[in-house]
Amino acid sequence: MFHPKIADIAATRHILKTFDLRASKRLGQNFLIDSSVVQRIVDAAEIAAGDEVLEIGPGIGTLTQGLLEAGANVTAVELDKKLPAVLEKTLEGYENFKLVQGDILKVDIEKLMPPNFKVVANLPYYITTQILLTLLEKKLPVTKIVTMVQKEVAERMTAAPNSKIYGAMTVAVQFRADVKVAFEVPPESFLPRPEVTSAVVVCDVRESPFKVVDENFFIKVVRASFGQRRKTLVNSLVGAGFNRQKVSAALEVSNIASDRRAETLSIEDFVNLSNELLKSL
Ligand code: SAM
Repeated sequence: MFHPKIADIAATRHILKTFDLRASKRLGQNFLIDSSVVQRIVDAAEIAAGDEVLEIGPGIGTLTQGLLEAGANVTAVELDKKLPAVLEKTLEGYENFKLVQGDILKVDIEKLMPPNFKVVANLPYYITTQILLTLLEKKLPVTKIVTMVQKEVAERMTAAPNSKIYGAMTVAVQFRADVKVAFEVPPESFLPRPEVTSAVVVCDVRESPFKVVDENFFIKVVRASFGQRRKTLVNSLVGAGFNRQKVSAALEVSNIASDRRAETLSIEDFVNLSNELLKSL
């Protein structure tokens, strides 16, 4: 069957017109119109025939088509109720495609996907962080997460300690994955154009090399530490309800000076601190 390429401005305009659709700002709809970007995402995800892929927000099927052409089995979750009818047409004839209409933050991904799946997505920017943290914190059997995000988010995901952009999200992502920015994508590659530059980030998910006793508690400590960025770590943790003496003792055992701020701590420091704090509970 002949499939015209969806990743093209004329094809995208034609599809939107045919189905009387307008890109929804509320749902973060910026459709890719650059086929080279689609190909580079497929390449960054190292898609091989038979790969199981979860796509978040297929839209009108642009990236989906690239994944399907590379031989992936794609399960896509799309919130917009208008899009299943569109995808039925734009991806007509592809047999290895399954669509679930729903909210990615609510569907049971574990039930939906077989083990060793990849996530590939041009994410809706209004919930990027929530989606990434959900994927990583649920400890799903996912091997690779390749996502288009705002450039600023990509920078936060890959930040090193001692920078303003190093935060709770950085630690949560790097705790579970090796993260790198694959390439940047300009606003012209989308319809409509977003106001920001985007970037594709590759997360290679691995067993964490860090020895955390209780992961939920670790995340709680990290979030509390960054809760009030202008305060010292001690004051942020006390402000979040931790006992001052216990925090001071845990910092001392972990070799972390009491006047440090959260953004100066390495992931290892947070691991040691949370393990010590947990002992004192
Ligand atoms: N994949 C398409 C592309 O690359 O052209 C569309 C990407 S667009 C940036 C984001 C997509 O995510 C939209 O289709 C939007 O409707 C969908 N979306 C928004 N919120 C969602 C949610 N909570 N769960 C699933 N999909 C969502």
